[in-house]
Formats: sequence, structure tokens, C-alpha cells
Amino acid sequence: MEMRCRCGDKCIRPISETLKDIELFYKPCSNCKIGKVKKFSPLAEQINLDEIDNYFGSCKCGKRHLDIVMSHVLKIMIDEGVKDKKANLRNSCVPLVTPGYPTDSVPYLPKDSLVIVSNEMDKRCAERIIKEVGEVSGVLKGDIRKTVGIKDSDSNPHVYELLAGCDLRCDIVQTPYGALGIYKYQHEIHIEFPKAKSPKIEILEKVLEEYDKPTTVLDCTCGPGTLGIACLKAKAQKVVFNDIWSPAIEITLINLEANGFPVKPSGSEEGLIASGDKFEVYSMDVRELANYLDRKFDICIIDTFPGVDTKEFVEAVGKLGKKVVVI
Ligand SMILES: [Zn+2]
Ligand SMILES: [Zn+2]
Repeated sequence: MEMRCRCGDKCIRPISETLKDIELFYKPCSNCKIGKVKKFSPLAEQINLDEIDNYFGSCKCGKRHLDIVMSHVLKIMIDEGVKDKKANLRNSCVPLVTPGYPTDSVPYLPKDSLVIVSNEMDKRCAERIIKEVGEVSGVLKGDIRKTVGIKDSDSNPHVYELLAGCDLRCDIVQTPYGALGIYKYQHEIHIEFPKAKSPKIEILEKVLEEYDKPTTVLDCTCGPGTLGIACLKAKAQKVVFNDIWSPAIEITLINLEANGFPVKPSGSEEGLIASGDKFEVYSMDVRELANYLDRKFDICIIDTFPGVDTKEFVEAVGKLGKKVVVI
């Protein structure tokens, strides 16, 4: 399957390529300026906003310190009246770097390596940021405290609004079976901040350790596909991905392909969206899955929104798996 981004650009590349230079990706060169901006005091009291352009010049290497990039963004927000002169970096907007990768020092950003989220942003300001701040690839309007996606089949989805640019991001996820890269259209898929170790992967690892031969896995609420793809990396015998949220399935297909698992769109088989060597992909209510799947899986993974009552999910997939794991 061809990996084409919705925006039409070449935003998606094989994860093996991204991983090659990841250690150096956010590192400064010896000439890079240090961005010393106090996050809790008003930006306008620290820098003369009218002369700020000198301050924003990037280094020959093309990178700038995250705080300088965010100051540039905030300066535009103040110019456009989205924020007042008292605004500081801490209350301006949330930066999500891409690829998301835990670093022990503040990252220096190259071009197109940042998606920002703000509840107050407007379209005009967002378009200006995309035009003037090269590091920013996408601007979203949304409340960071609200989880994006669909809770269960009875709720309406919650999404952020993409105001300008492209919001496709990639998170690097470390697993005992090798690193994965998980792409997300960030206005549709919940935000996860990069951690050295993912608690969900740790739970999965413990479960997989109980088996001494390749397992069959049903990832019922697969989201962008992280846990199911980790199982494929762990040499599962078969993985079935499912999510009722169709944007999650669209991105799962991209993530399978980007992580080296080629995807074939399905022919006429009912319910099946796509398949590959050792996997199948569906998009339906978990309660309906039993009508389409005739096997009993070794493991069924349920990974819902925080705070969702998983009883109904467990009941529905109980028929399909020998072991149900709520992650
Ligand atoms: Zn794109
Ligand atoms: Zn530099």
C-alpha cells in the first residue's frame, strides 16, 4: 500500500529511516544559540518584541532551541491579538515535537518538527505561524485536557480542529522487540508524551512472556495500532486489529506499512478492511466482532480511554479469547 499523507506531501517515511538519525535529530551544533527564556514570566518583559526578529535568526545548521521557537510563536499570537502582552511561554500553547522521542535536554528543532495545540488559536494566526515559523508543521485548536478520539460506540467523537499545516506526527515507542514509530493525525488521536518506557508496553511484555510459542492476538481497540504492531514485532503468529474509530484504522494501516508490515487492501471479504502476512484489520463495534471472527485468540487486548467502564468490552470479547487483558 502506498503511504501518502492526507496533506499530499511526503510526510510519511519508513520508521527504519527515522530511527537512523534520531539520536542527533534534536541535538544542537556548536554554534547554536541557547534559548534562555523564563517560562513563567511575560515574554514581553524579557525580550523587546519589536526587535525580536534579530533574536529569532536560526543557526547555520537550521535548528533553533525549543524556547526560541515557542517565543516566536507567542510573538505572533500577541501580534494577532490571540494573547495579551502578559502572556508567557507556559500559558501560550502546547508543543508536540515530531518525531516524539524522549531527550534529556531541551530539543533544538529543525524544519517541520513541531505541532502546536492551543485553545485560543484562530485561523489567521495559525496560518501566519505556519508561514513564518519553519519549525512548526501544524497548528491545532483544542483543549489539551480533553482526550481526542471516541470513548465507546455510544459516544460522539471528540476531535481538535486543524487550523493550518499538517498535523501528522510520529511517536517513537521503545519495545523489547525493537523501536516502533507510531504516526498520528494529532487532531484525531489522543496525545501521548514520549517516555523512555511505555507502561502499556510493559504490561504487554509480561503477558507475552507467559507464552513459549507464537501467540494469536486480538487488539480490539487498537487506536493507532501500537500494541498490535508491538505483538507483530514480537513474532506473534497472527494479530487482528480493530477499532470502531475509522481515523484510527486509517492510521493503523499507515503504521503497519511504515514499520515494515506491508498492507493489502481487502477484496470482497465482508467486514475486513485490509490484511497482510500475519494480520487482519477490521473497524467495527467490539460486540459485532464475534460475527466475523471464527477463531479463539490466545490474547485479547482492551485498551480504552481512561475512566471508561470496560465491563461491556470484556464481556463482548470474552467469547473470542482465552485471555482478556485490560491495559
Ligand atoms: Zn502531511
Ligand atoms: Zn546550530
